Amino acid sequence: MKTALITGGASGIGKACVIRMAQEGYGVVVADVNMPAAEALAEELTAKGLAAIAVHMDVSSEEEVESGFDKMMETYGSCDLVMSNAGIQIVHPFDEYPFSDWKKMMAIHADGAFLVARAAFRRMKASGKGGRIVFTGSVQSFVGSKLKEPYNFAKHGVAGIAKAIAREGAEYGIYTYTICPSFIKTPLVEKQIPEQARDLGITEEEVVKNIMLRDTVDGQFTTVEDVANTLAFLANDQGALTGQSLRLTHGWAMM
Ligand code: NAD
Repeated sequence: MKTALITGGASGIGKACVIRMAQEGYGVVVADVNMPAAEALAEELTAKGLAAIAVHMDVSSEEEVESGFDKMMETYGSCDLVMSNAGIQIVHPFDEYPFSDWKKMMAIHADGAFLVARAAFRRMKASGKGGRIVFTGSVQSFVGSKLKEPYNFAKHGVAGIAKAIAREGAEYGIYTYTICPSFIKTPLVEKQIPEQARDLGITEEEVVKNIMLRDTVDGQFTTVEDVANTLAFLANDQGALTGQSLRLTHGWAMM
């Protein structure tokens, strides 16, 4: 059985990807700090006869990342697909951005991406079978956004590390990708709408229309299913797309 570990797998984009890969026949690992939600999802899938486990994994902890991957290997014996997806958002005007919040953002987005990808790489290389490492980037991997300097820094960074790992991983059959969605209505985004309205002195409707969807060609949100479909597609890529960032942005930041 092929296997997939998805961080931040208990909610939003990660949850949709967990469900999709389980439906594709993968043994899935829901890796999250929210254990009640991760366990509930794993139970829901196993009740349907699909293979799923939940592990507590704070992606900023080297120990928890390594032990979560060890649990994956003990349970399934292989590590084929890994999605480094866990993330948070903290918005502030740049001149008021607390250093402590910058550090929180870096711990999850930068340290987390490094630790999860390295743990995956180690196991995929050791197996001799290779595998696929997918980062959740963002349209913010390419553009800049008010109030989001640390997020922009980190999301540009994951697109960069994916390219470097693609070079180093090729000889072991390890392929890497960055999926870069524009805004998707998940808990992470629902939380930002009132916060941005407050910080920018505009209404919540204006945040959605004039900020989140302004640069799309059709005024549409991307969906969690769009990301899950892309992940399922990349799971079968044989290297043609390695190192690439795929933009799911409704025309925002076209190449
Ligand atoms: P979400 O809030 O619905 O889910 C995030 C999950 O990550 C939660 O289950 C949370 O418990 C988990 N998490 C938080 N900190 C963690 C940690 N330290 N270790 C492990 N898990 C942790 O958010 P989402 O919108 O699904 O976002 C998932 C990813 O997609 C993030 O990297 C985000 O930056 C990115 N993204 C989101 C959007 C969007 O519009 N929603 C767009 C582009 C990119």
